[in-house]
Amino acid sequence: MGTLYIVATPIGNLEDITLRALRILKEADLVAAEDTRHSRKLLTHFGISRPLTSYFDHNKDLKGDYILDKLREGLSVALITDAGTPCISDPGYQLVRDAVAAGITVVPIPGACAAITALSASGLPTDFFSFAGFLPNKQGKRRERLQALCAEKGILVFYESPKRLLATLRDMLETLGDREVVVARELTKLYEEFLRGRLSALIEEAEGREIRGEVAILVTPAEQTELPEGPGMEELLTRYLESGEFSLKDAVKRVTLETGLPKSAVYAEALRLKG
Ligand code: SAM
Repeated sequence: MGTLYIVATPIGNLEDITLRALRILKEADLVAAEDTRHSRKLLTHFGISRPLTSYFDHNKDLKGDYILDKLREGLSVALITDAGTPCISDPGYQLVRDAVAAGITVVPIPGACAAITALSASGLPTDFFSFAGFLPNKQGKRRERLQALCAEKGILVFYESPKRLLATLRDMLETLGDREVVVARELTKLYEEFLRGRLSALIEEAEGREIRGEVAILVTPAEQTELPEGPGMEELLTRYLESGEFSLKDAVKRVTLETGLPKSAVYAEALRLKG
């Protein structure tokens, strides 16, 4: 019997591939990938040239059987997805389940995962969290799911497409209340950004500018968690106003978002500072 390796790949920054992942991919008899063209580029970047086969949501039954046959023949197979850890909001679960049932050894090769990466730098208490993956596309179903998660005690971690971010934040405000959230955008990439604040403030931000790229959303539980303490309102306002790069309105907007304080209080302080 061969071994099935579940190999995590980077979520943006190619330096995040592990030495072990590179060795396993170099040694694999077969690499099963969600999108073979995308993964070919990754493998080529690292000078790896192994036979590739596709394994994605719509061919997983047929391809799962094929891969299991190869494993039974004694071949080693590395499963990768477009980014991050296979099986985490990505294909792989059925293959792992069937391999385990067939007595095939399954070995995880850990690495990047957007949910864990977002949590690690969120500044939120990470001792208890629930991974909720993608919410349903349809608003009714999305709100239903959020309602079901309303009483969860830990941080809720969601994946979302930038297209639906604003609609999702609005539904969250409606169903969960004005909670503290962290939107982690473009993790490990050039435009990596953490947006911290209450849902109402982030909605305002998302209405004012298009938030592009990949996003993960972390929502604090109903009994609020304090966001990490950064510079205070006065210090931030002074910094933005004195930089000359922001109008009073924009400075207020930024500071409201960064501190999670009510906009009216920030505005009053900005007027005071302006004299
Ligand atoms: N298996 C992957 C993992 O381990 O994180 C997740 C794959 S899922 C199909 C893709 C979603 O993960 C994106 O829509 C986004 O919500 C999140 N994601 C992936 N890469 C990200 C990044 N660089 N920054 C923020 N979120 C990311």
